Amino acid sequence: MGDHGRGLNASRLPGEVSPFRAGLACRCPRCGRGPLFAGFLSVVPRCAVCGLDLREQDSGDGPVAFIVLIVGFLVVGAALLVEVRWGWPLALHLVVWLPLAAALCLVLMRPFKATLVALQYRHRRETLGGEV
Ligand SMILES: [Zn+2]
Repeated sequence: MGDHGRGLNASRLPGEVSPFRAGLACRCPRCGRGPLFAGFLSVVPRCAVCGLDLREQDSGDGPVAFIVLIVGFLVVGAALLVEVRWGWPLALHLVVWLPLAAALCLVLMRPFKATLVALQYRHRRETLGGEV
């Protein structure tokens, strides 16, 4: 009865940073203050603020899979809608949608990778050597 209503926050410790907040800000998953990236997508080996070892954090292709699905849905849906309504020439479609798709992928890459790293830290911290 005491656990009633804990839901998704059951494994969250007091004062712990939300993985989504840390991910959107591209910050350390433990303290939420140190920058997560050294460059565009390279994860820093250690948090500059709290010293968390981030060398084992690897989100692999996870962010790309989500981004391809989301951007593909948005861009292809918009291209189909424009084609049906206004019948753009093929060259105009290419000039508009390809750069837009590339830009959206690049914009979403850092926050998605940071969010997946933060979620991995939160749910696998015991196996990665992080403190609870
Ligand atoms: Zn930190």
